[in-house]
Amino acid sequence: MKHRLLDRLLLPARVDTVERWAPRLRLITLTGPALAGLDWLPGQHVRLRVAAAPAAIDWLLGTLRTYTVWDYHEQRLQLLVFDHGDGPGAGWSRTARPGDELMLLKPQGNFTTSPAAYHLFAGDETAQAAYGPMLRALPADATVLARLEVDSPSERLPLSREEGAAKGPNWDLEWSYRRGRSAAAAQTLVEAVRGLDLPAEPGMAYLAGEARTIQLIRNHLVQERGWPRRNVLTKPFWTPGRKGLD
Ligand SMILES: Cc1cc2nc3c(=O)[nH]c(=O)nc-3n(C[C@H](O)[C@H](O)[C@H](O)COP(=O)(O)OP(=O)(O)OC[C@H]3O[C@@H](n4cnc5c(N)ncnc54)[C@H](O)[C@@H]3O)c2cc1C
Repeated sequence: MKHRLLDRLLLPARVDTVERWAPRLRLITLTGPALAGLDWLPGQHVRLRVAAAPAAIDWLLGTLRTYTVWDYHEQRLQLLVFDHGDGPGAGWSRTARPGDELMLLKPQGNFTTSPAAYHLFAGDETAQAAYGPMLRALPADATVLARLEVDSPSERLPLSREEGAAKGPNWDLEWSYRRGRSAAAAQTLVEAVRGLDLPAEPGMAYLAGEARTIQLIRNHLVQERGWPRRNVLTKPFWTPGRKGLD
């Protein structure tokens, strides 16, 4: 019974490579025949079994954690995992080695780009993992504004041309640095978005990362700038004291 259900839900894969992209960010490439031909939209995530089940409630699947797909080609699916210290997901990323076997659920989720006059992105280190593929998928002439806040310059990901990735002519990307401050309810990131000189008409906003920061930025866009709620797509990735947000 357990095996039949697992077979239907979870795909087997193995770790191919683990690369350190930043002090606390690892690019983990998974591979295997079961990863061939998956449907994937940039911005979607997978759920991985990162550890055995700790309790009866999830005895069937084990401990699942969620990671956005950074890139996917043929049988190779890449994830960028932020090592924040605690938790089974962060622990898995520190110990993952080529050849390790694991199980995962297919890509899913609605945190994907839609056509818009312009696209606004804001978030922290973990949000970068979603914004990389979303930005790469936008048309070359799309207008993009992004305000990212990470702890230090070494934790910036290559999202723009200067850093090796494609960049459209109408992109305005800026990073700010917390230098040890918490990423939770980050007022400095809210201020960075508040400081943007946006067109009168709303575009589409994509807000990922720490849940309270996202809420503050959404409130700013909806309450202060009058954006319709449907133009603000949110995806809380984590928040202090909560485990395994999904
Ligand atoms: C749709 C979705 C997509 C996601 N994509 C990514 C991704 O691509 N890359 C990525 O690294 N993460 C991503 N996350 C976040 C990741 O799933 C969570 O950080 C996850 O909870 C980590 O699991 P854990 O077992 O390490 O910690 P948990 O057991 O879940 O949490 C333990 C403690 O760690 C804290 N914590 C969790 N994450 C962070 C953090 N980033 N910084 C500081 N403290 C933290 C929690 O608040 C909690 O107190 C995504 C989450 C969602 C919902």
